[in-house]
Amino acid sequence: MSTPQRIRRVVIVGGGTAGWMTAAPLAQKFSRQLPVDGGPPTEVVLIESPEIGTIGVGEATLPTIRAYNATLGLDGADFIKRTQASFKVGIEFKDWKQVGERFFHGFGDFGPAINNLSSIQYWLHLRAVAENMPPYEDWSTSSVMARQMRFTPPTGEAAAPTNAYSYAFHFDAGLYAAYLREYAMGHGAQRIEGTITEVHQRPEDGFVTGVTLKDGRRVEGDLFIDCSGMRALLIGDTMQVPFEDWSHWLPVNRAQAVPSKRVEPLTPYTTSTARTAGWQWRIPLQHRTGNGHVYCSGFISDEEAGRQLIAGLDSEALDSPRLIKFTTGVRRECWRKNVIAVGLSSGFLEPLESTSIQLIMDAVGRIIQFFPETDCAPVLADEFNRRMSTQYESIRDFIILHYKLTQRRDTEFWRHVSGMAIPERLAHQIELFRRSGRVAVYDPDGFQEPSWQSLMLGLGIQPEAYDPMVTVIDPRELLAHFARVRASIAQTVAAMPTHADFIRANVRAD
Ligand code: FAD
Repeated sequence: MSTPQRIRRVVIVGGGTAGWMTAAPLAQKFSRQLPVDGGPPTEVVLIESPEIGTIGVGEATLPTIRAYNATLGLDGADFIKRTQASFKVGIEFKDWKQVGERFFHGFGDFGPAINNLSSIQYWLHLRAVAENMPPYEDWSTSSVMARQMRFTPPTGEAAAPTNAYSYAFHFDAGLYAAYLREYAMGHGAQRIEGTITEVHQRPEDGFVTGVTLKDGRRVEGDLFIDCSGMRALLIGDTMQVPFEDWSHWLPVNRAQAVPSKRVEPLTPYTTSTARTAGWQWRIPLQHRTGNGHVYCSGFISDEEAGRQLIAGLDSEALDSPRLIKFTTGVRRECWRKNVIAVGLSSGFLEPLESTSIQLIMDAVGRIIQFFPETDCAPVLADEFNRRMSTQYESIRDFIILHYKLTQRRDTEFWRHVSGMAIPERLAHQIELFRRSGRVAVYDPDGFQEPSWQSLMLGLGIQPEAYDPMVTVIDPRELLAHFARVRASIAQTVAAMPTHADFIRANVRAD
């Protein structure tokens, strides 16, 4: 067996959000490389096929997108302008618990912990002993900002209760990919336009050595990143890694997407509204609103789903709805031999909590962390695969939670999803919270305690108990503390600019 050597060329197959989100940090990293072997730096080559195109959706993100942008050194104002971005402090869920009810999943905590205990534990205690305790969302700065359509980034003292929030972005997926393309090519990445028709493997071990394009050109490499979307050209067709179907837990399998006109006031959050056999997203951008209806074809026709989508818009549609079909699930391995799947080729989870771009960012971070030599040591692939599976499964469970806890029984779809069997670990989570108000966090890269609390309280679980240590503080003292924090949050938010004004003031008008 030959000695492992430095990877000289990385080939990225696909130029959607996943492809360019992978190319940008790799190009940045290798443009600074001074190889110890004295050879040229590792090349990053991306192949994209204009005739196949990209999926063209994926516009809501989670707060870690900021760390990704910061690592690339992107200028915040320029990014917001070029991608028509808006700010996002969380997701509003309408009609999920019951028709006519809403709750908010905000980015951030419910005020600071007290004696190392989540403040929700104290709120549960006060709700049991005090009269007319206001809703827990009053202690979530992001929820209060959402109600008032205001936005400014956290400033000042990090530990202040009013700073216990975070934010992400909504952006135009096509513009973001183009923005990253410019960045990646500016850092030396090469772009090849063409459609791959053949993949070549080394006979002795099955490693991919190159691909042939429709026009006969051949592109060779040492490491191949499969960003070919749901086609899964390399990880599926070539490597034959099985796809684990999760549609028995998450049965929605179609979406129709349509842009509509911008709506005032500009909301600093995504909205998810439950419909009769799925749910509808609303994503506010500077130049338009993104909308889509995600549904299960076993319970509603495409025609009816399209009608519901259009009827649910709050501004004029700018196009006709576009149909997208999918199956929820994941590849058994995201890395096999010298092929690593990133993006939709690795799996799909419905965009209810905006997690796909997060999974892309984390996969790219892990590729850099576990960057191999030419032998692609199986132990690196094993660790990468272990972390990807953990993350996919923890997000999967978080999404199933939304369906399982609904109190809706008004359609066959809601009766089906509320009655379905769920993964054991999720059943434990729900029971733990119901009995004790406590939360188990299984994945350091997944949703943390405040997110689980928001969802379980928002969907109507009333914990029977709470942490007994909360009673070490006199309830009158606690009530006074909670009143102070609530007033301080309300006052801080009232002084913030509106979301639209903040964008206007912070984006250069050149
Ligand atoms: P694609 O965009 O499909 O790109 C595939 C690329 O591979 C293209 O460039 C194509 O040309 C190329 N390709 C394919 N075959 C070949 C070939 N033979 N030769 C050469 N090139 C080829 N995620 C979020 O985080 N937030 C959201 O709000 C969100 N909303 C979504 C809504 C819906 C309805 C869906 C379906 C997904 C959503 N996602 C969301 C997921 C998000 O869209 C994707 O994770 C993201 O766009 C990445 O897609 P991709 O780059 O993997 O695939």
